[in-house]
Amino acid sequence: MLQGTNLIKDFRVRLGLFRGNANLRAVDNVSIAIQPGETVALVGESGSGKSTLGRMLLGLIPQTSGALSYRGTDFSQLQGDAQRQFRADVQAVFQDTSASLNPRRRIGDNVESPLIFNRRLSAQQARSESAQLLERVGLDPKTFASRFPHQLSGGQRQRVGLARALASQPKFIVADEPVSALDVSVRAQILKLMQELQAQDQLAYLFITHDLGVARLIAKRVMVMYLGAVVEEGNAADVFARPAHPYTHALTLAAPVPDPARARPARHLMGDIPSPLAPPTGCRFHPRCPYAQAICKTEVPPVREFENGHRSACHFAEQVRAG
Ligand code: SF4
Repeated sequence: MLQGTNLIKDFRVRLGLFRGNANLRAVDNVSIAIQPGETVALVGESGSGKSTLGRMLLGLIPQTSGALSYRGTDFSQLQGDAQRQFRADVQAVFQDTSASLNPRRRIGDNVESPLIFNRRLSAQQARSESAQLLERVGLDPKTFASRFPHQLSGGQRQRVGLARALASQPKFIVADEPVSALDVSVRAQILKLMQELQAQDQLAYLFITHDLGVARLIAKRVMVMYLGAVVEEGNAADVFARPAHPYTHALTLAAPVPDPARARPARHLMGDIPSPLAPPTGCRFHPRCPYAQAICKTEVPPVREFENGHRSACHFAEQVRAG
């Protein structure tokens, strides 16, 4: 349904008065394909390029190079009706609902506006459909439609964000850390709601998260990003059970487990994520990698495939998989 091939995104950044500009590569040669009705989780630490990739897939920022297509049509060819259809089909839900909800408008008006502007419904039709959408996301329209966003809890605002995204009858939603700001019980409710909506409407999700527990719960397929590149991808169950990249391995060990008795000793990542302005040579992960050897400092590891389309970019993937 939506495909990106060899995507690169560079930003020019100003270093300071006398230091000139530099090139920051936020996304480095990433290929991604989203099928109808599937959930792909994009995981990694802050600064790994997940949100930049999500924004490119939404058409919010252009790629520096590489190709993006929606239902077989290149993004650059999406014009007129095709572009309007793309804008309706592809929606976003963000962690910060203030990015999608107008704080000066009541909840009912916030949900009605895409119905009026994207679907061209009359004001009366929009009001009735907005009430149905609020009900679908578990909010009583009689209670909530007249309130302002600041009068709602974080979980309720995220439900409104979902209702607003659903107003355009989307096929694909980029959900960028949608539950990160919520407490654990509300987080579980929102994830369950998203799964129910997906089953009802055959929605596809790109679920961007730094939380492996969330990715494990919601996604069938996972892509792990580090410093702008995908270092591992595959079926989520395979990747989490037998990671083939030390970065994924470290993330899985650091993730909390429900039963403390079954917790494995966490091998924390060494140091912080390096600056993308001066990425390390060879394997970008080598300064932090407990498996690193001399070759890792000089040679970029090729992407290799194991069973079920499980891919990893590591010279020593077999040893990592073997634990
Ligand atoms: Fe670690 Fe080397 Fe594999 Fe990179 S290639 S992840 S440094 S073992």
